[in-house]
Amino acid sequence: LPIRRVAVVTGGNKGIGLEVCRQLAAAGVTVVLTARDETRGTEAVEKLKGMGLSNVVFHQLEITDNSSIARLADFLNKLFGKLDILVNNASIGGMEYNPEIDSNNEQFDGMDMQQRFEWMNKQGQQTYDAAKNGVQTNYYGATHVIRALLPLLLSSPDGRIVNVSSDFGLLRYVNNEDLKKELDNVDNLTEEWLDELLDKFLKDFKAGMLEAHGWPTMFAAYKMAKVAMNAYTRILARRHPSLRINCAHPGYVKTDMTMNSGFLTTEKGGRNIVTVVLQPDGGPTGAFFDEGREASF
Ligand code: NDP
Repeated sequence: LPIRRVAVVTGGNKGIGLEVCRQLAAAGVTVVLTARDETRGTEAVEKLKGMGLSNVVFHQLEITDNSSIARLADFLNKLFGKLDILVNNASIGGMEYNPEIDSNNEQFDGMDMQQRFEWMNKQGQQTYDAAKNGVQTNYYGATHVIRALLPLLLSSPDGRIVNVSSDFGLLRYVNNEDLKKELDNVDNLTEEWLDELLDKFLKDFKAGMLEAHGWPTMFAAYKMAKVAMNAYTRILARRHPSLRINCAHPGYVKTDMTMNSGFLTTEKGGRNIVTVVLQPDGGPTGAFFDEGREASF
């Protein structure tokens, strides 16, 4: 009998990540549901087990902590000796939010997407510390997880990585035309250049120079971390042609991250990611998927 496929999902305790775990487990994949918080993570696993999904196990993972990442790699190596699927889902908003936000759903009735984004933007402040934390988590955390788990993915006959990205990471949010061209020049992209780019971004953030230098201004850190993640995905896909490595935008989903302002259920948002994870053999790599369909960066 073939050994079941094994998947790791980061930030699997709630929102889209939890749905991705549920749908992958329902499709027969062995799921390692990870969460930074042991209690929240084990409760999520219990919830899935309660739905009859026994092929889900918990492992702690704080993506900004390299020792936590190393413990997960060690666990996977000992238990399975390989990894077939990595879904980099964990992420934060990169802003400081008021903890008492009233996000009852009726208030969004009649608001279009732009109005909802503006509402979300008003609920928080773009402080430097929150922006830095956003870049550290959403870009560096995810890339450190990928680096540590890459040998295990290369041991799979069909290794796949799906980086849960966002429409907010599309190049249209970058106003600096030269920068946009460089970001789209896949053959010249390097990790070192992306590090420098994010350093420059954070320096300009601190200096109040976002608009002057053509960076995004609303949800700036979140957007730049996703821009970098998209570029990194393309570098990695080029370097490892035996793997399928893609980015996927789930759609605008009702979760804690959007304060429930989204249009889609987590069921649908999760489906938009799982479709990319389970794409048929020979599908694209180094691509961006918007709600399950291949689209341009
Ligand atoms: P949620 O806020 O509901 O969930 C985020 C998850 O990430 C939680 O499990 C959270 O854990 C975890 N997490 C955050 N920081 C860390 C960390 N340092 N280490 C480990 N886990 C961490 O968000 P969504 O479900 O909405 O978002 C999931 C993904 O989808 C994200 O990558 C997001 O950028 C992307 N996305 C979402 C959209 C939407 O409309 N919702 C639109 C476009 C993209 P904890 O519970 O401990 O905080």
